[in-house]
Amino acid sequence: MKIALVLPEARQASALNEIGHFIACSEMAPEHFEAWLLPESEFSEPLLEGLYTHFVPAPVDMLLFPSGWQGAELATRLAHRLQGEAWSAINDADFARQVVRKNAYGGALVAELQLHNKPWCLSVAAAPGAKTWQPEIEYVHIPAAAQKPAWLVESGAIADEAESGLADARLVLAVGRGVGSPQAMAQVEEIACGLGMETGASREAVMHAWCSMDKLLGMSGTQVAADVCIAAGVSGAPAFISGIAHSRFIVAINNDPQAAIFRHADVGIVDGLLPVLTELQTCVREDI
Ligand SMILES: Cc1cc2nc3c(=O)[nH]c(=O)nc-3n(C[C@H](O)[C@H](O)[C@H](O)COP(=O)(O)OP(=O)(O)OC[C@H]3O[C@@H](n4cnc5c(N)ncnc54)[C@H](O)[C@@H]3O)c2cc1C
Repeated sequence: MKIALVLPEARQASALNEIGHFIACSEMAPEHFEAWLLPESEFSEPLLEGLYTHFVPAPVDMLLFPSGWQGAELATRLAHRLQGEAWSAINDADFARQVVRKNAYGGALVAELQLHNKPWCLSVAAAPGAKTWQPEIEYVHIPAAAQKPAWLVESGAIADEAESGLADARLVLAVGRGVGSPQAMAQVEEIACGLGMETGASREAVMHAWCSMDKLLGMSGTQVAADVCIAAGVSGAPAFISGIAHSRFIVAINNDPQAAIFRHADVGIVDGLLPVLTELQTCVREDI
């Protein structure tokens, strides 16, 4: 099988690591790969045109795209143009059986999906903390088509929200609905700051507007690979767990001993989150 790894030049290394993780999970042999490098582009159309033009004289059986909206969009739209098939956020595959697997229903189950028509255009799931992968393969630069789409009248960039720094944080304090109020959230954020931890939040905490959207952890938000992650006042829903599962050491604080979060934790503390975090802050201060 001939496989193209489609890598945006701006994040070539991390995209390669993610795809490498997918390849390792899928137990694929590496000898048929080539890398197609994409330039930066404001729009997907010039990239799609470039990919299509490169594909037609030298087709491949499968194109692997990195995670995120751009990988998913390019995979889906290119598959449509090439009359192939697309799936996004794929965890791994069994190519002998022609199936791919991805999380479904908020991460509550894993779906196995049959592949039929080639080319298969697959964008992989995010793999925070994935090992560095530097295969010795051919790298081809795909030029973007020069023209903007004819239907585009005007466009302007919208400023990004401030980066939270969550994605690369080594120490994360993840807070859930158990925090209970914006005042308590502010207290927890202060404690996190004193402990040198980055604050993240569950969807419940974010939807209550106790913190900003860029703090969201989980399948709809950021996925961290922290050295230590404290999950305080979160129940442990699968959609949240996928945001912290790659962390090396997880501490759970919850006043319900039956909470699912304890199944994912290295250490569990059954108690209210504020007294525990306050005590932790005091211990660390005394230690300093
Ligand atoms: C398609 C889809 C995508 C989703 N994506 C995400 C996502 O990306 N991220 C995400 O987080 N969720 C996501 N969700 C929602 C997810 O399923 C859960 O509803 C959510 O994670 C629950 O948040 P929580 O644990 O904070 O709240 P709850 O489930 O309400 O849990 C609160 C916990 O706090 C404990 N508690 C209460 N008071 C205290 C206290 N004083 N001290 C200690 N513990 C206390 C309770 O015992 C309870 O276990 C998604 C759902 C769907 C369907």
